[in-house]
Amino acid sequence: MKRKNYWPLRWRAVWDNLTNYRIIEPLQKNDNMLLNIKNLHVAIDGKEIIKGLNLSVNKGEVHAVMGPNGTGKSTLASAITGREGYEITRGEIIYNGEVINDMPPDVRANKGIFLSFQYPVEIPGVSMTNFMRTALNAQREFNGLDPIPAADFLKKMEEMKQLVDIHSKLTKRSVNEGFSGGEKKKNEIFQMAMLEPKLAILDETDSGLDIDALKVVARGVNKLRSDENAFIVITHYQRLLDYIVPDFVHVMYDGKIVKSGGKGLALELEEKGYDWITEQLEG
Ligand code: ADP
Ligand code: MG
Repeated sequence: MKRKNYWPLRWRAVWDNLTNYRIIEPLQKNDNMLLNIKNLHVAIDGKEIIKGLNLSVNKGEVHAVMGPNGTGKSTLASAITGREGYEITRGEIIYNGEVINDMPPDVRANKGIFLSFQYPVEIPGVSMTNFMRTALNAQREFNGLDPIPAADFLKKMEEMKQLVDIHSKLTKRSVNEGFSGGEKKKNEIFQMAMLEPKLAILDETDSGLDIDALKVVARGVNKLRSDENAFIVITHYQRLLDYIVPDFVHVMYDGKIVKSGGKGLALELEEKGYDWITEQLEG
């Protein structure tokens, strides 16, 4: 009897090992794929918010994620960046060929994942310049590089400040302290430009922006777009996508991506609203 159960169990273990991305994943690895999210389930305080989400993003692509409020867009962003309190209960997030489900958020950041917050926080007592130097050098140290020489740092600061139209007055102040809503959002793009992430997630960076600030944000993103990086642009409105033209548009509803398409899908949503999709799903 014992023998009979022994082999199936052994084979089960071997099978689990094989399918547990250790061996299978490298064989399937697509060098162009930066992010591969498979059957992701995420819970906050035991409540399931993301309910089986699939998304793959190749280098060089811009994906827009749209959808009604409360459908889990920000939760998805938090799960990708590893924010505390967001528990992955099933599925996996593969970044650059590596399963990152349990990777600490700072390691993810150092490996090139950047999130621009929907509500940027203020950091009193820390100047933008010092904050940026510290962040950049932490990333460089992680990647085995020496700290950035002072002259190079200042040159890069100047270049990126111009890119996002940030006044030097602001970079001398504490991070985000007393910044207007638009300045905070521009500052997020500035930080992104300085850190040169591989995967940048913008969570409703457009909300509360006037058209000029929106254009500045889009200019920053478009300048940074390359064959080596990718963007996930979360937005409630189509408006931003006039300026940051996505390769793919996904609609999230109740914790899942329920529809994907090209940039035309965003225009269709603008015209018909989200009800059109939810009615299709329910009907
Ligand atoms: P979206 O960004 O699409 O508007 P969110 O991801 O912010 O949606 O929220 C999805 C759902 O998760 C909502 O029902 C929201 O109430 C819930 N939620 C978000 N954050 C928390 C939290 N910290 N604790 C409990 N529930 C949360
Ligand atoms: Mg949100």
